[in-house]
Amino acid sequence: MTKTFDIAVFPGDGIGPEIMTPTLEILSGLSNTAETYRLACTELPAGAKTYQETGNALPASSLERARSADAILLAAMGLPSVRYADGTEISPQIDLRFELDLFAGVRPVSIRPGQPTPLALSGGQRVDFVLIRESTEGLFHTRAKGEVTETEAYETLKITRATSEKLFRFAFDLAEQRKAAGIGPGRVTCVDKANIFRAFAFFRKIFDEEAARHPGIRADHAYVDATALWMVEKPWVFDVMVTENMFGDILSDLGAGLMGGLGMAPSADIGENHAVFQPCHGSAPDIAGQGVANPMAMILSGAMMLDWLGHKHDLPEMIHDGRRLTDAVDSVISGARTLTRDLGGTSSTGEAAHAVAAALGSRA
Ligand code: ATP
Repeated sequence: MTKTFDIAVFPGDGIGPEIMTPTLEILSGLSNTAETYRLACTELPAGAKTYQETGNALPASSLERARSADAILLAAMGLPSVRYADGTEISPQIDLRFELDLFAGVRPVSIRPGQPTPLALSGGQRVDFVLIRESTEGLFHTRAKGEVTETEAYETLKITRATSEKLFRFAFDLAEQRKAAGIGPGRVTCVDKANIFRAFAFFRKIFDEEAARHPGIRADHAYVDATALWMVEKPWVFDVMVTENMFGDILSDLGAGLMGGLGMAPSADIGENHAVFQPCHGSAPDIAGQGVANPMAMILSGAMMLDWLGHKHDLPEMIHDGRRLTDAVDSVISGARTLTRDLGGTSSTGEAAHAVAAALGSRA
């Protein structure tokens, strides 16, 4: 039996459409030859361009379509030149996290053999960890609604038991899944600032309660400042890290830096009923329209979508295709022949994506 999945697609702004087009071609190549699943993709308007054209960055029809989809694939939204009246940028991708309660921001940090990195890794040191960023509260709680007077400004950090419990359960489940797949040792690190803030002591207490329910997984804590240091000094010690929204925002860009830049960093924002898959980077207006954007983060986000849908609907072929797609990216990177400019190569977006499609080969 073949199951068809409805995928809401947001190409968005800047380099968004340039990286989305080849990614959809690769995904439809997989889907068209699969026995157990099909992807039915619908492109939807949202973002800075849509705001300029309609006065609405996330039209209600796009939001409703996304809400009813099986998964959402998003490239990049927002442009520094297009802003709301209060000076903040258009960011419907963040609105979606709140609207769809996507509390778990999944940011894998994996350095593939041959991948450019500022780290000097020795033979046995393999960097492969996942940072989970809470994405609906924390210091983003008063996002765009902070209190500002002539002399003072206030933003509120919010941590709730309900969201923290879901977040930590997600982190431990992921560590168990990685351990079972032979990817990680089975460790979850709670990243906080519990030595200074009572809100983080609360966060840590809820983490410890969840840890007690997972005796097979090692649970520990780290302060966010020390974590930034260790991510540079010894990133290979991490497996799954879980943290607050703002800390996660910053650490995930540090993770992307370890991977040689934003062009290699995929992500997922996952809730109990919905999920958005998108690269960590923004719309990169400085290189938009030149055909030089790295499509790998977008393609890897597509692979994460296949893996998530496959696990959710118990479709091994889909999980396998997610793995095949990730392996195809790995082989292009380790071959170091078809790299885009950000990775030191000269290939175009299309050439890099085509190399991934070629590395995928045909279905065995
Ligand atoms: P946002 O705040 O919307 O996430 P940002 O301010 O982090 O965006 P980006 O748009 O992500 O900025 O771009 C940051 C830098 O990384 C830019 O120099 C951009 O050209 C580069 N960059 C981002 N994505 C890619 C990509 N896919 N390929 C190559 N370079 C990229």
